[in-house]
Amino acid sequence: MASAELSRPPEKVVGRMAEKRCGKCGEIKPQDDFPTRRASPDGRDSWCRDCHVVANRGYRQRHRERLNAARRRDPIPERTCLTCGQPFIPVRKDQNYCRT
Ligand SMILES: [Zn+2]
Ligand SMILES: [Zn+2]
Repeated sequence: MASAELSRPPEKVVGRMAEKRCGKCGEIKPQDDFPTRRASPDGRDSWCRDCHVVANRGYRQRHRERLNAARRRDPIPERTCLTCGQPFIPVRKDQNYCRT
């Protein structure tokens, strides 16, 4: 009684063109389409490049919107510089000098 395990063909042929399923869009793409990442077990990111591009664009957009909203909600008033006496708009609320 021979084990069926031994004669079973490999589920997937791993050739020169290793493929990987993207954890974001679910598409199977060549490994070259995944950015390298040392922390990952296979040395590749789990997201394909396309998904990274989309995610980065979305992040930047969200970030900018939030920043603008925060500015509108809480504008920092103009201040007079303690060293040179010139009016300036501080970046931080506790900024008392036009240049740090
Ligand atoms: Zn993807
Ligand atoms: Zn100044």
